[in-house]
Amino acid sequence: MFKKSILNFRRQFLVFTGLFFFLTAWSQRPDADIFKMEGKELTIQPILHGTLALEYDGKVIYVDPYGGAKAFEGIKKPDLILITDIHGDHLNEKTLDGLGVEGVTIVAPQAVADQISEKYKNQLVILSNGNKKSLMGIDILAIPMYNLPESDDAKHVKGRGNGYLLNLTGKSIYISGDTADIPEMRNLNDIDIAFVCMNLPYTMDINQAASAVLDFKPKIVYPYHYRGRPEISDTEAFGKLVNAKNKDIEVRLRNWYPEYE
Ligand code: ZN
Repeated sequence: MFKKSILNFRRQFLVFTGLFFFLTAWSQRPDADIFKMEGKELTIQPILHGTLALEYDGKVIYVDPYGGAKAFEGIKKPDLILITDIHGDHLNEKTLDGLGVEGVTIVAPQAVADQISEKYKNQLVILSNGNKKSLMGIDILAIPMYNLPESDDAKHVKGRGNGYLLNLTGKSIYISGDTADIPEMRNLNDIDIAFVCMNLPYTMDINQAASAVLDFKPKIVYPYHYRGRPEISDTEAFGKLVNAKNKDIEVRLRNWYPEYE
């Protein structure tokens, strides 16, 4: 009897410590992914929700910096910032202030320019849907992002926000922003790496996201921006939907919701 309870205790202890370490690891920022390309290196660092940092050829790009400066600890300061939309998880001045990015070029749509504080206005490069700009050797094309069906009171009205298509020495990276499975996404070609949102009621569900991804066939897709209320998208199920029809698309599941103090 006594021996049995000791064994039970040991088993529970092991289960609990295992769970603790699993949860601790899961709550940390995931490691960056590194791609070698034509002698240059591309690093992709998921940060939080729809926020990521890219480093290419020594230049650092923050996309939608959000989550506070703490979320960026240990990451180099940005040379360029891309902002997709006006909502607080994309245009987040608390994070910009905390990071101390005065003077760093910020690429954003007009709607963001209209809302951002005066102090950031002279570092803006405004791009509207369909416009292109080359900065630091990186081609940046603004892609529409909007809800379907289109309506004037949609959370994301067509024309306001920008998804981005980046071209770095022949590698193309698509960042969807908050969008449905719009034709502008489905018609993309030759995408190497794609970041695709999926969270109702703000963007789209995993079925729509999988269907769009199967259409434009990126080599690698990262589901990102996948949590919202009330639904939490099942990114594993998304991966299965994609790979059931196309095994060549690599679905990279990362923890986009680590805990930052
Ligand atoms: Zn969002």
